[in-house]
Amino acid sequence: MKWRNKAKIRAHELWKIGSGLLSTKHPVLAHIIPMRRCNLACTYCNEYDDFSPPVPIDEMLRRVDKLGDLGTSIVTISGGEPTLHPELDAIIARIRKRGMIAGLITNGYFLTPERIQKLNACGLQHLQISIDNVKPDRVSKKSLKVLESKLRNLAEHAEFFVNINSVIGSGIDQPEDAVEVANGAVELGFSTTLGIIHDGAGKLVPLSAREMSVYDRLRQQGKKSYARFTGFREDLAHGKPHSWRCRAGARYLYICEDGLVHLCSQQRGYPGTALAEYTKEDLRREFDTPKTCARYCTVACVQIVGLIDNWRAPQKGDPYVSQRADDPKPVMAARQSQGTSSVEREHQQV
Ligand code: SF4
Ligand code: SF4
Repeated sequence: MKWRNKAKIRAHELWKIGSGLLSTKHPVLAHIIPMRRCNLACTYCNEYDDFSPPVPIDEMLRRVDKLGDLGTSIVTISGGEPTLHPELDAIIARIRKRGMIAGLITNGYFLTPERIQKLNACGLQHLQISIDNVKPDRVSKKSLKVLESKLRNLAEHAEFFVNINSVIGSGIDQPEDAVEVANGAVELGFSTTLGIIHDGAGKLVPLSAREMSVYDRLRQQGKKSYARFTGFREDLAHGKPHSWRCRAGARYLYICEDGLVHLCSQQRGYPGTALAEYTKEDLRREFDTPKTCARYCTVACVQIVGLIDNWRAPQKGDPYVSQRADDPKPVMAARQSQGTSSVEREHQQV
């Protein structure tokens, strides 16, 4: 049953990737936020609160329908903690009903066998958990030891694909934890990804010798497992600029809880148009707009989506100039190690 379902998911993905290659006029991936509230409070995170209510289900379904109308291939539900939304299953079911691929990014705390069975039933196809460390610390409780039983539940019951993302870079006290997290994930039959993050001042720093040794070990293991290492991660690891064409606002959309379209989690505020009013013209404009933040961008999911179009359609519009004072920039000098954005940790893959 599991393998048959996963084979169907792969066939669905191939078809969607094919349609993404054939036409540049529709979004490939949208992240949609059904609630900001989270049960955790990771100290680096600027993506959550502890009070806001779920977006009403009728509104969420309207947003999903609009993404379907725009021809979106994949919708990934994120947060806050999306499993706190009381009608998450209905949102997933609507994504599937509209023929789109359904993904979920969660901290994993609520993944009981019953919850996983419900996710199977509503048609979830991909789930990602980002694990920050082996044991909880002052920064994060998204920890391997805390989540072990939930990962076993997933291995036993999930009929969808599971990816475990681990991270290295500034703010991570024990980079070696990433190896233990990845090994644990592979043993359970999950795919893994590795996120490289910039520091609390938004600066992209080359990995230290200790971090680079962890990176190299994971890259070696990646040849044997499912870990994915693409060119931009190599450049990030060495603190180098990466040459690519960011198609955020066109091929990738970030829809906040207020229903506004943003380029990505790191560039919220632009274009800031209501999704209900987003048009094919908006998609075309953003497809053609170069982004000044692209060279040192750490948002992996948008870079992966960009691979589909990097080889074609050079961007010719007026550049989008990031207003963020703390955009990732390379520093080769002093390393800093404060907080980082949750999204760089969590939104590492499609
Ligand atoms: S990083 Fe994720 S789990 Fe942690 S507070 Fe933010 S939304 Fe919650
Ligand atoms: S931060 Fe990255 S993904 Fe976001 S708009 Fe800039 S280049 Fe694109």
